Amino acid sequence: MIGGVGGLQQAVVGPPLWLLAEITYRCPLHCVFCYNPTDFARHEDELSTDEWLRVLREGRALGAVQCGFSGGEPLLRDDLEALVAEAHRLGYYTNLLTSGVGLTPERAAALKAAGLDHIQLSFQDSTREVNDFLSHTKTFALKQRVGEMLKAQGWPMVMNVVMHRLNIEHTGRIIEMAHELGAEYLELANSQYYSWALENRGHLMPTSEQLKRAEAVTDEWRVKLEGKMKLFFVSPDYHEARPKKCMNGWGNVFLTITPDGAALPCHTARMLPGLTFPTVREMDLKTLWYDSDGFNRYRGTGWMKDPCRTCPDQEKDLGGCRCQAYMLAKDAAAADPVCPKSPQHGVVQAAVAAANAGEVPARPLLFRDRATSLKLSCSGA
Ligand code: SF4
Ligand code: SF4
Repeated sequence: MIGGVGGLQQAVVGPPLWLLAEITYRCPLHCVFCYNPTDFARHEDELSTDEWLRVLREGRALGAVQCGFSGGEPLLRDDLEALVAEAHRLGYYTNLLTSGVGLTPERAAALKAAGLDHIQLSFQDSTREVNDFLSHTKTFALKQRVGEMLKAQGWPMVMNVVMHRLNIEHTGRIIEMAHELGAEYLELANSQYYSWALENRGHLMPTSEQLKRAEAVTDEWRVKLEGKMKLFFVSPDYHEARPKKCMNGWGNVFLTITPDGAALPCHTARMLPGLTFPTVREMDLKTLWYDSDGFNRYRGTGWMKDPCRTCPDQEKDLGGCRCQAYMLAKDAAAADPVCPKSPQHGVVQAAVAAANAGEVPARPLLFRDRATSLKLSCSGA
């Protein structure tokens, strides 16, 4: 099947391999770097259990082999066990991305019995103070108990910590904590500046020096923990010399379904103007994946304009991230401003320079909550 909008080169479209089911935007935490859209409060009409079961079946028939359940906090849905069981029965490799809030020994056992293959548990920091401050909840001790529940059920311990200026100096202690909890994998994912993290960018962006030190500390621990724990350090785009191949290519591998049923090539794509993304209530997954304008618009390289259109690296990064291009260059078809060849690269350089100079915005941190989401939606932010 041929996708793309004409022009230089059209993309041969294969099936999605990953189905990401964002089953709810509700969450008891209020993380300042939350990746949910800032207007999540406008999308509270969640798909029913039967609708999600249909989505799982259509995704598997289309060829998806991995199914991630995320949110918000997916444990807030009491049909999670039923959805996992159906995904397992259909033959997906299943994954739950959770803050751990809402997991009890009984639910852990039920999810295990339903066939859940893998849980990724997020922490905010190695200290109770910063963990609880960043999430605006008292959840540090609870997360540690959840870590023990995961081990008791025999799941591999996979931990994720979003890194930024407020916790990056704790990198060594975070790795130590993960090791003490028995983690086999730890992802230190530096905050990328989308959604709530973009609102809070001036508070969250580390300096280049802090990043360098954190990477060096991670490298030291890699040697110490060789064979015991795998460490992944994901750098922030703004500090990288070149853009990333976002989502491994638009409409190439990932199919995300939002809580209210919109089908997206990535979880932030709904912000892009001039694009409509069908919902699973309007269209089956096969039609929306192969035939909808939302999925075809930025597939391949045919949509590119200069400098990407004539760039020898266009296949390597596919022009970077469309959402970042829209947020920073106000044009979703522009080169990702993280790229030094982008005419808007100065915006990224200015943000890094402000962080390096220790500038902190006068506006306080915004915590992710419903009231703030409604306020941001009204202000068009
Ligand atoms: S980042 Fe924090 S607030 Fe956002 S969904 Fe995850 S746990 Fe909830
Ligand atoms: S100009 Fe475009 S294709 Fe070339 S490296 Fe930059 S973002 Fe990638």
